[in-house]
Amino acid sequence: MLSGPTARIDLAALAHNWRALAALHPDAETGAVVKAEGYGLGAAQVSHALLEAGCRTFFTAYAEEGAEVRAALGPEPLIYALNGPDAGNLPVYQDAALRPVINTPEQLALWKADAPSRPAALKFDTGMNRLGLRAENAGDIAQQTAGMQITHIFSHLACADEPASAMNAAQLDRFKAVLAHFPGAPPSLANSAGTGLGADYGQALTRPGIALYGGGEPPAGADIKPVVTITARILSVHHGLPGESVGYGATARLTTKRTLATVAYGYADGLPRSLSNKGFGVLGDVRCPILGRISMDLTTLDVTEAGEAARPGARVEFIGPNAPLEEQALSAGTLGYELLTGIGPRVERIYVD
Ligand SMILES: *Cc1c(COP(=O)(O)O)cnc(C)c1O
Repeated sequence: MLSGPTARIDLAALAHNWRALAALHPDAETGAVVKAEGYGLGAAQVSHALLEAGCRTFFTAYAEEGAEVRAALGPEPLIYALNGPDAGNLPVYQDAALRPVINTPEQLALWKADAPSRPAALKFDTGMNRLGLRAENAGDIAQQTAGMQITHIFSHLACADEPASAMNAAQLDRFKAVLAHFPGAPPSLANSAGTGLGADYGQALTRPGIALYGGGEPPAGADIKPVVTITARILSVHHGLPGESVGYGATARLTTKRTLATVAYGYADGLPRSLSNKGFGVLGDVRCPILGRISMDLTTLDVTEAGEAARPGARVEFIGPNAPLEEQALSAGTLGYELLTGIGPRVERIYVD
């Protein structure tokens, strides 16, 4: 459906970003987080490109996502499911040779009863209060897991994207106290932002996600390239006259004659409605403001400054090298993570190398 919006995914830039993150921690293994359909870009395709770049350890949230990655990558790479096992998904771990990340006493009991000899990682909560075994129980957990095949000890940083935050060092200290109970078990702490916090945070295995896909603030020292370019097609170009309004709710009023273009792209495609009267699309090299409310399938832009480039059939860039992901996300009151994972099913993913 090339008349609809497209997301062009640059797999060479993705591979470049993985290598750039790996170079920050040459003594650690660099994995790749490919949960939520590879941050909206296609789990099978991005995982395959990362495997070719040299990645050997992948992370999904659900076991079912891990099974999809296993089918795409074959038997060799390690695949961890971060959400861990439950009574319903144990066969998925078995069939797809996945490793769980064990986050709760209940998950530990379940895995111990079902598959005590199969490899698993343990995750400890060192300050997120989200998911993970309690750090103060590390001694007990070490006793309970003696004889099990514990491959890694994980934790997760709450404030890695704020390098000056005291939380980072505090979590690192708490993590070290946990690790003292698991001598020899390789630790893993850093997400994308964590890879920019210095050598101490690399540990044995890093778990970058968003930076691979060109989002977030680039970790210090890493040259991160944009990966995704979203464009949508102009359906109609017309003039709007002074006194007229644009879109539902008539929230934009014209005071002068403007050239308006209506584009086949709306909130059903992942363009956040909160960018109504705020965001922009790029036509040629001109930033054209979004006028009025974004609707489900359509968005209207003021393309007056774009001149001849504004014609039906022309494509407007909404995310990409000329329309930075995080800048659009900030205007929408959100993060690049949400924009990428919200790319709708009608947006055709086109992979280029
Ligand atoms: C999602 C996730 C990551 C990746 O985080 P990014 O900020 O996208 O790099 C790493 N570790 C865990 C436990 C996660 O849930």
